[in-house]
Amino acid sequence: MQGKLNVQTENIFPVIKKFLYSDHEIFLRELISNAVDATQKLKTLSTRGEFKGELGDLTIEVEIDSKKKTLTVRDRGIGMTAEEVEKYINQIAFSGVTDFMEKYKDNHEQLIGHFGLGFYSAFMVSDKVEIFTKSWKDEPAQHWSCEGNPEFTMEEDKKHTDRGTDIVLHIADDCKEFLEEGTVLQLLKKYCRFMPVAIRFGEESVWVDSETECDKDGKPKRVEKKQPRIINDPDPAWKKSPSSLTDEDYKKFYHELFPMNFEEPLFQIHLNVDYPFNLTGILYFPKVRKTIDPNRNKIQLYCNQVFVTDQVEGVVPDYLMLLHGVLDSPDIPLNVSRSYLQSDGNVKKISQHISKKVADKLEEMSKKKEGEEKSALEEKWDDIKIFVQYGMLTDEKFCERAMKFYLLKGVDGSYYTLDSYREKIKALQTDKDKTVCYLYASNAEEEHAYIEKAKAKGYDVLLMDSPLESHFINLLEQKLEKSRFVRVDSDTVEKLIPHDDSIPEKLTKEEKEKLQPIIEGEIDKQRFTVQLESLEESDAPMQVTQSEFMRRYREMAQTSGGGMGFYGELPESYNLVVNVNHPLIGRVLAETDAEKQKELVHQLADLALLANGLLKGEALSKFLKRSVEMI
Ligand code: ADP
Repeated sequence: MQGKLNVQTENIFPVIKKFLYSDHEIFLRELISNAVDATQKLKTLSTRGEFKGELGDLTIEVEIDSKKKTLTVRDRGIGMTAEEVEKYINQIAFSGVTDFMEKYKDNHEQLIGHFGLGFYSAFMVSDKVEIFTKSWKDEPAQHWSCEGNPEFTMEEDKKHTDRGTDIVLHIADDCKEFLEEGTVLQLLKKYCRFMPVAIRFGEESVWVDSETECDKDGKPKRVEKKQPRIINDPDPAWKKSPSSLTDEDYKKFYHELFPMNFEEPLFQIHLNVDYPFNLTGILYFPKVRKTIDPNRNKIQLYCNQVFVTDQVEGVVPDYLMLLHGVLDSPDIPLNVSRSYLQSDGNVKKISQHISKKVADKLEEMSKKKEGEEKSALEEKWDDIKIFVQYGMLTDEKFCERAMKFYLLKGVDGSYYTLDSYREKIKALQTDKDKTVCYLYASNAEEEHAYIEKAKAKGYDVLLMDSPLESHFINLLEQKLEKSRFVRVDSDTVEKLIPHDDSIPEKLTKEEKEKLQPIIEGEIDKQRFTVQLESLEESDAPMQVTQSEFMRRYREMAQTSGGGMGFYGELPESYNLVVNVNHPLIGRVLAETDAEKQKELVHQLADLALLANGLLKGEALSKFLKRSVEMI
């Protein structure tokens, strides 16, 4: 029989080839998923008792014949009768393609996106496609053939007696790579790695004990043996029931998914929903230490175990892109553009569900188990803190949930929930305006002197050292009622948390007016602002502090890239706080020799810079020399 395919567009094949060029490797995925479907349909018929014959070996085979320049996909599934080929291949499949082309005729960009074109994607890489098929029903086999134009032939095929379908692609000259074993193997590994029916591609060598030969120690000799190469794992962990899997199983699967990731994941969430949408998958938490933008394509999206993409923007909330793993859902529309994906109702629900599951998991981990010193969340906190912060900053709902389990860490290493920490510091760290002041350090080493002073006052100091911290602190100040975060070096310890009790001043107004220019004359006024303050006599004569507000906005501008440019360009500026009650400051005022006065001011200012790590280079050398002379 000869016929003309039911298409309006005169010749669709050059179009298929041209516009799908960038994605044409998907033909293999399309053909093999058809083979998988046909195999699974046969299994269903068999369990229902409708098919009574032997199922036999149902392995799907992929074969390259480099002489004939063909690539064959062979299954032992339900096959097709002549009528079915007519209906599914000649009519339906082709009209599907036509509809598709019609829909996207003005928008080729979208066409090139991800979608499945089914059987006809075979023409993206072939000059000629043949189908040899025999139905499970007692009907003659068929041979269909089409040479990349709307004409096809179909005839009975007396040679073919086995049930199932062979799709034979005569690979076009400009697509020769699909005749190379390496290329095909790579594609199979990419798209078919977890398809639910075993897929064989050629052979592989394994080393086994010989049954006949021994080495000189009498042990069986190791010999090479060829065996069929099965390229997929038809029963991946995410499809199993969570209760049947151990932690080890999950880790093993992680390495199967990401053979190039050598670090162990921290923990995982196994998703398993079937109503109101269908979703399975496993999401692993990797260590996220100092950066928030590592590999963002570590979530693979599958549709019934068929790989679709590893670009999941829009399917999961942005912060969850930091996770690694697999999602499998037949309810995510695949053949559409990203903007459509983002507005799709199912996708939104799925995305919210994942976010909720992540919050559930973290909340559960925050509960301390009996007899344990630390909760599971505390154990892993340092490695996932940035992840949680990023989520709270970008996802309102997640933020609400996380306020309950977010952990603050003290400089001494203890962890507190937001509520428990507030209780702990409330009494001593509430200022005269009834605002609770959270003191923190960004670097326990560099800010050591300030931390010690705060501790001496009975204050507690947090360690807040992530790259997102300045943004995160702003968020906390909005979320927590009457709260303020101040870094320990942003003011003198008295003023970090202003109370009502001020210390009497030793200097008169006139004396202070005289002192100010003496000190200003000796320092870099671009960088330092002199502040005369009434502090304890026992406090340092001079100290360097840096305004919380200015510093934090500078940092935020630097990590947000644009929008806050003004702050980012501000030079770093500091305060030089002069303790007017200190005896040495009295001496500066009383000194009549101008040279000696200058020297003393320099020395005191340098000591303050030194305590802050700001004295460097030539200034440091001068200081050392001057110190020796003064002694
Ligand atoms: P889809 O798979 O999306 O339905 P296709 O164009 O890939 O579209 O296939 C059209 C139809 O042809 C299938 O629905 C199926 O009925 C039939 N078909 C394709 N490949 C096979 C096969 N290997 N075995 C049996 N039937 C097949």
